[in-house]
Amino acid sequence: MADKKKPTPKLDELEKGPWPSFVKEIKKSAETNVATQDLLGILERSYNDKIGHWKHGGIVGVKGYGGGIIGRYNDIPQEYPEIAEFHTIRVNQPAGWFYTSDALRTLCDIWEKHGSGLTNMHGSTGDIIFLGTKTTELEPIFSELTEAGFDLGGSGSDMRTPSACCGMARCEWACYDTMALAYDLTMTFQDELHRPAFPYKFKFKMAGCPNDCVASIARADMSIIGTWRDNIQINKDEVTAYASGGKRDIARDVVGKCPSKCMGWDGKNLTIDDSNCVRCMHCINVMPKALAPGKDRGVTILIGSKAPIIEGALLSSVLVPFLKMEPPYDDLKELVHAIWELWSENGKNRERVGEFIQRIGLSNFLEQIGLEPVPEMISQPRTNPYIFYDVKKG
Ligand code: SF4
Ligand code: SF4
Repeated sequence: MADKKKPTPKLDELEKGPWPSFVKEIKKSAETNVATQDLLGILERSYNDKIGHWKHGGIVGVKGYGGGIIGRYNDIPQEYPEIAEFHTIRVNQPAGWFYTSDALRTLCDIWEKHGSGLTNMHGSTGDIIFLGTKTTELEPIFSELTEAGFDLGGSGSDMRTPSACCGMARCEWACYDTMALAYDLTMTFQDELHRPAFPYKFKFKMAGCPNDCVASIARADMSIIGTWRDNIQINKDEVTAYASGGKRDIARDVVGKCPSKCMGWDGKNLTIDDSNCVRCMHCINVMPKALAPGKDRGVTILIGSKAPIIEGALLSSVLVPFLKMEPPYDDLKELVHAIWELWSENGKNRERVGEFIQRIGLSNFLEQIGLEPVPEMISQPRTNPYIFYDVKKG
């Protein structure tokens, strides 16, 4: 075990400044935890050696589950024995990340008893991340978690834990119940979540409106983003209040910044050509009391985004322009099954669904999953259609 008083000059640099520091937190934990004392030691050593000392992988898990635990081992265990095994546990977060303080205390108690006590709230997929424990502690942690009503999340080539913005729980702009859908998909696809059987990971993210606070368009294989298909609701009195109070320069800040130039302002009346509105939310964000999404609400389903791992980064593009999103969500689930079947059968190892579509072509993909091409399927706004149509003559 490393001497906890051993100087860590490089790590100390990361404690300077007014912002929170992960080093400060690890040091607090190292007052009582031998694993985090070794963690500080190996981290300082990594900065000196200019290499990471973590080996990736190794299959570890709990009975019946193929995912949820990521094996971590260091490559100099003789020097840092307390973190020879330092596995990461992914715990399925509640939809919208709502907790009672009791639930948080329970999680922390379980983790301090069986692991390093260090958490990451939350990982980029959305899970609660427990950082660092030994193989022998995995089953006890799992049984205490399940007793407390928590389950493991996804890892590896499976459906990752679905995540959602807080939607209707807190946000007036939510066009559908994101949290209900996240819960439903999590329960429906338990097999796919816990038993990795896909070519690679598959992420669902649900955003209640095009503000897309969960960044689903950049980070989900399937992005489910709330939208509306009627007109933006306008409260004329509130528009006047924004204009007269000098709170907003409507011509400059609202109309002038509409990306599709579909708004008009004559000094008194605000008009919107809704047929050309691209639902960017800008005007609604700037004048929240005066404007709101329309009343005929649903979602746009997009497919294919990912961060750069094997290939470069991709953004999602439109697959279904508008779908009503109500339980039991049969249309969505049917679509998901069709996509998974095709991709599981034909995807290469570690090929995300977006890369798969690029390889086989969107038109082949659509044909195979039984969707008709529509003009909204574009790779970039207003240009680059994937699908070419014959222009009718005469
Ligand atoms: Fe609200 Fe939209 Fe953000 Fe969801 S994505 S929290 S509905 S603004
Ligand atoms: Fe224009 Fe965006 Fe407002 Fe639509 S939502 S009217 S595109 S600013």
